[in-house]
Amino acid sequence: QSTLASASVLTSQVGGHSGVMASEDGSLLMKPALPLELAFYQTELIQNPALQGLRPFVPKFYGTLRLEGQAGEGGIMEVKPVPEEGMPKESLVLENLSHRFTKPNILDIKLGTILHDDDAPPEKAERMTNTAKNTTSFETGVRLTGFQVYDNTTGTAINTPKSYGKSIKRTDLPSGIARFFPCSHPAEGLPRSTLLPILQGIKENVEEIRDAVKGVEIRMVATSLLIMYEGDVEKAGEGVRYMDMDEDEDVPEEKEEDDSDDDDEEEEGSKWPFVVKLIDFAHTKHVPGQGPDEGFLKGVDTTLRLLEGRIKEVEAIE
Ligand code: ADP
Ligand code: MN
Repeated sequence: QSTLASASVLTSQVGGHSGVMASEDGSLLMKPALPLELAFYQTELIQNPALQGLRPFVPKFYGTLRLEGQAGEGGIMEVKPVPEEGMPKESLVLENLSHRFTKPNILDIKLGTILHDDDAPPEKAERMTNTAKNTTSFETGVRLTGFQVYDNTTGTAINTPKSYGKSIKRTDLPSGIARFFPCSHPAEGLPRSTLLPILQGIKENVEEIRDAVKGVEIRMVATSLLIMYEGDVEKAGEGVRYMDMDEDEDVPEEKEEDDSDDDDEEEEGSKWPFVVKLIDFAHTKHVPGQGPDEGFLKGVDTTLRLLEGRIKEVEAIE
């Protein structure tokens, strides 16, 4: 509760509409949300048995708030829950996925070949179809929405805005991914021995997401894969050692009895140097009987091919 006394603009936001706020300690974020996204987190995800498989792959949800006022000077604002159904838009309170990283490298990949609802007005549908066709979305099911990467020679985060991802062709996607996963020893990126297990781990997470989404009859229009990894060389190396330790200690059943807290599952992998989640459910609908979201899955497959390509490139670096 005390962490919500005041909030400031999320500095590490790489895509989407501005207005995402972070709590004072940075562990939570508040995002103004539309009715479908509120319903997704508040009811669908909790109550709809068909969607349970997605739960491990979305940020933790803590509730909703109505925020009063606007961010003032320096992007700081008071957080006051507004009791009555008043003017302010309702905001989701979510776990801030970047909080655990010292230097969060963050990539938002918008998935899907069509980026509008089937109930969008014809004008909007036509405009959005054209945008999809003029970008990588229609052909590949992905668009690099935006990303930030720390340059370890200067210690600053370099931001690549959405104009980049909107302007490139499908053949440029591998170089876009290479920009997000720079490898160097020891200059701007991570050393190969640290970057490779991170890439491998991210790829495995994306595969798990693919398996989960394949089994759900849903339309996730303009939903993103949010990929983050530790950009700090030392911290990332430490994180890779935690991955190794967790793999060695492979006695699943005993482990569950040991630590009995139900937080347990959430904690697994929390020291690992990367995280992959799905975000942005403003146009997400359960569609029983209509099968999985093929455009979305196409984007997931493209992402997997891109990760595999980058793994090969990094392996080949002398
Ligand atoms: P929009 O509907 O405006 O596109 P998104 O849900 O896609 O909103 O979020 C916009 C941006 O905010 C993302 O690109 C990401 O940078 C950041 N963001 C969203 N959710 C989280 C989260 N749970 N943790 C960290 N950053 C997040
Ligand atoms: Mn978004």
